[in-house]
Amino acid sequence: MKRKIVTLAHYYTIPEVQQMADKVGDSLELALYAKNCDADVIVFAGVKFMAETAKIINPRAKVILPDMNSTCSLVTMTDIDSLKKWRESYSDYEHVAYINSSAQHKALSDWIVTSRNVADIIAHLYSQGKKVIYSPDRNMGAYLNFEYGYEMPLWSAVCEVHDKFNKEELVKLMNSITGEKYLISHPESPLPVLHESHFIGSTFSLLNWVVNFSGDISAVILVATEDGILYNMRTARPELDIRQAPIYNGCQCNSCPYMKLNTVASVAAAQREERGLVIDYLSDEVMAKAAIPIKRMLDFSL
Ligand code: SF4
Repeated sequence: MKRKIVTLAHYYTIPEVQQMADKVGDSLELALYAKNCDADVIVFAGVKFMAETAKIINPRAKVILPDMNSTCSLVTMTDIDSLKKWRESYSDYEHVAYINSSAQHKALSDWIVTSRNVADIIAHLYSQGKKVIYSPDRNMGAYLNFEYGYEMPLWSAVCEVHDKFNKEELVKLMNSITGEKYLISHPESPLPVLHESHFIGSTFSLLNWVVNFSGDISAVILVATEDGILYNMRTARPELDIRQAPIYNGCQCNSCPYMKLNTVASVAAAQREERGLVIDYLSDEVMAKAAIPIKRMLDFSL
């Protein structure tokens, strides 16, 4: 019998790869889709932690990452032995970990969150009188602490793409725009950039903000997140002036090098010949431990 192959693509992949996918989405959408689809093979055009998450929640499927080097700085900046010691030093805290983390990292956590549900899940924990530590994204943790008055101890890793957004360049650019202008930002960006923002939200929420924009049609909308989503924004609202927010020296190159390893050729090879990194290296113990906090999040989000 023919095997059913499902291709998932993150918003940060190139438009041509998104067009090859059965489902395009952010981390939460793709995790939910991976859990519920009846695929024999999932080709995950994203990065390694996403493919690992798909395998953990749908262990029956063969999950393939088209390029084995598609990693994430939030993963590579986190040494698991050090994380284990850090977690043990807060033994009476709930460990909330961002989905942008390895399977071993997830196995050391109590809750997984995405940028879409992080605020609700942490508010839920505080409402139950729990104490919380947050990893691995320092910028997102700093934003949550500032915005909600938490004092969560934070792990210190960053997204190397979002961390480059620069307040000085941004203010210079904003001041040079005479008409109506907006800045919308992902919470992986540095806090000074978030302080300048009109709206802060997940990739999905930023896209929705643009889709539903009802302001002046000549307004400039600056977007502080990875550049792949601009394709979806411009497709949805071609009449709007949507630009990427600047980083240092006016460069506008906030493109995730790992997401962009998903090329048309590598995704096609994974679809046709099942080439790429097959996620079959996770131990049963890691899979079982990591599944618990992921499932908590999915149940909370449904
Ligand atoms: S954009 Fe940042 S957080 Fe997302 S995969 Fe790339 S390095 Fe990781």
